[in-house]
Amino acid sequence: MKLHEYQAKQILSDFGVPVPQGEVVATPAGARAIAERLGKPVVVKAQVLMGGRGKAGGIKLARTPDEAAEAAESILGKRLVSPQNPQGLVAEKVLVEEAIEIQREYYIGITIDRTRQRNVLMVSMQGGMDIEEVAAQNPEAIATVAIDPLLGLTDYAAREALYGAGIPQEQVRPLSALIHSLYRAYIAVDANLAEINPCVITSDGRVIAADAKITLDENALFRQKRLEALREESIEDPIEEEASRRGLAYVRLGGDIGIIGNGAGLVMSTVDEVARAGGRPANFLDIGGGARAERVRQAVELVLMDPNVKGLLFNIFGGITRGDEVARGILEAFSTMEVNVPVVVRLAGTHAEEGRALLQGTPLIPAETMQEAARKIVELVAARS
Ligand code: GDP
Ligand code: MN
Repeated sequence: MKLHEYQAKQILSDFGVPVPQGEVVATPAGARAIAERLGKPVVVKAQVLMGGRGKAGGIKLARTPDEAAEAAESILGKRLVSPQNPQGLVAEKVLVEEAIEIQREYYIGITIDRTRQRNVLMVSMQGGMDIEEVAAQNPEAIATVAIDPLLGLTDYAAREALYGAGIPQEQVRPLSALIHSLYRAYIAVDANLAEINPCVITSDGRVIAADAKITLDENALFRQKRLEALREESIEDPIEEEASRRGLAYVRLGGDIGIIGNGAGLVMSTVDEVARAGGRPANFLDIGGGARAERVRQAVELVLMDPNVKGLLFNIFGGITRGDEVARGILEAFSTMEVNVPVVVRLAGTHAEEGRALLQGTPLIPAETMQEAARKIVELVAARS
């Protein structure tokens, strides 16, 4: 679960990381009030869960309270699009904070390295840029040090990373202190990523986190009662959120063909097959084993919450749950709903033929193979647009 910048900064600040003074607001008037209270130039920053906000127009410098209100006006409710996020996201809140005078921008991050089975500390002098880009084009510009799980983050590990990145001597001590605070926050909230980019050296030589990103391990939320409250505020996609409430594995993919299947592997191949047939998958949804009517109904409802969906493809492999039971479950589910898009059902496995026979004469279109099913739904959707 990704946290918003203002939430991440709140956490980091609680652990002693210096952050700019500021507050999050949802209106231009609110932005003006914060700027007035701070009494100095501010930056107004869109609180959307995506990188590259600066280039997307989501970060504006404002010298006066009026300018802060204007900046908030120009950001709030607007869709921000970046190369990392071509679909774009709408900012409902802005963070208004004191503008800082930047002398240098560094990158500092802690994350899990699954290959090393360690948390790793990363430091780079190339802050302010997308770290993935630095990693791809200039990997030696990032110093990475593994953190021993028994010792925790030691002073010498922090220094090794800082020296390794080429950080000037006089900044090593303050940055080392910041890294320790960052690490304590990372461990305390069960994060799997905590990064400060840019970590700024101000023109008067102070160290401050100008941007912050924290991703929490959702499996640890049960022991993070305080953070669970943040969940509501950091909904990335309302349908994905609803899916997690319903216990369904759903991932939004942005296209117009809804996909439902049993088994993650099968659903992934279905997504590929639809793309290969020239279609654009709207989602991944694994309903798991069985296909009881209630579960199917929940799944279909969920997929149709996405207004872009123009067709539905079921891909079910009958194993322990036989194909005819699956077909009955699907038919029963559809008998209780009004569905106005074409639906193709591919049934395979145990009693698949019986299952397909049950679908004859209903609005549901049976298919035998995944390729046939993908082709059919792509044609039907193309015919409708
Ligand atoms: P991101 O693009 O979404 O990662 O947003 P950031 O918060 O990292 O901001 C992007 C860039 O905007 C930073 O690297 C800075 O160059 C600039 N920026 C952000 N806050 C300030 C500020 O308070 N003062 C100045 N001068 N520049 C800032
Ligand atoms: Mn940033």
